[in-house]
Amino acid sequence: MVQKIGVIGAGLMGNGIAHVCAVAGYDVVLADIAEDRLTAAMEVMGRNLDRQVRRGLLDDIGRIESVQRIKTTTDYADFSDCDMVIEAATENEAVKRQVFEKLVPHLRADAMIASNTSSISITRLAATTDRPGRFMGVHFMNPVPMMSLVELIRGIATEEETVAAFKEMTQRLGKIPVSAEDFPAFIVNRILLPMINEAIYTLYEGVGSVEAIDNGMKLGANHPMGPLELADFIGLDTCLAVMQVLYEGLADTKYRPCPLLVKYVEAGWLGRKTNRGFYDYNGPDPVPTR
Ligand code: NAD
Repeated sequence: MVQKIGVIGAGLMGNGIAHVCAVAGYDVVLADIAEDRLTAAMEVMGRNLDRQVRRGLLDDIGRIESVQRIKTTTDYADFSDCDMVIEAATENEAVKRQVFEKLVPHLRADAMIASNTSSISITRLAATTDRPGRFMGVHFMNPVPMMSLVELIRGIATEEETVAAFKEMTQRLGKIPVSAEDFPAFIVNRILLPMINEAIYTLYEGVGSVEAIDNGMKLGANHPMGPLELADFIGLDTCLAVMQVLYEGLADTKYRPCPLLVKYVEAGWLGRKTNRGFYDYNGPDPVPTR
């Protein structure tokens, strides 16, 4: 019976994963590279929990108990009694390898590991650990507390028991799991990111302004958010990383990352998390930057 879940990386996703696990009654250990990231993550989580209380989705006692279930740490030794660990560190294979290298010596032999990677091969990540049979992809959607879908990706060595355990855990979180094969970017991002990349090419080639492109897709295709707004929301570094994995993994030029996306990432304009991307978020309302 799974009771304690470790989460590595307290950014956008790790924060949301820790949040939903704690609300569902799991004990959570949340780790990041520095204390200040953990403090910031707990502040964001506090605001998100408050919003759930205001909406009647959680009561005051549930809110207090959820926060109490989360322990933050920068020390991998704190994962020694976890039943499962979900890695949600930066979308960079070298970073993830380093995380698993540090993590594995501290884990119980029967503990399972999942990666929340948006695009990196689960089989390849699993092979860097001592337990490929107890390793799989569990891909949450952003924002985690609000989105129902979770993609479950088995690597070539993943055991049935591991899939069953993560399936049950995601269902206890109130999520709906779907199975995806271990191909670059799985299902949702394989479809979504090329659309976002194409929207950036449309901007780059001057076909339309930021506003025209986003309104076009909102009003013309009934999307709840425009593709550029969505790119800022996901994080432009994450968007670029996924396109690079598609481009290299499928060896097809149709996945070539738009040079404008590359330039924005080089400038450190990563979207909402840095207050600037295709929109400027410094004022009360987002303002298109092109
Ligand atoms: P993020 O940049 O918001 O957060 C990443 C966190 O990882 C940061 O807090 C960083 O300090 C931390 N980190 C970096 N190196 C670390 C290390 N060695 N040990 C511990 N922590 C470390 O990124 P994110 O958007 O939360 O993405 C995290 C993962 O989730 C990525 O694999 C990404 O592809 C995936 N994902 C992202 C989205 C999305 O919409 N942003 C959706 C689904 C999945």
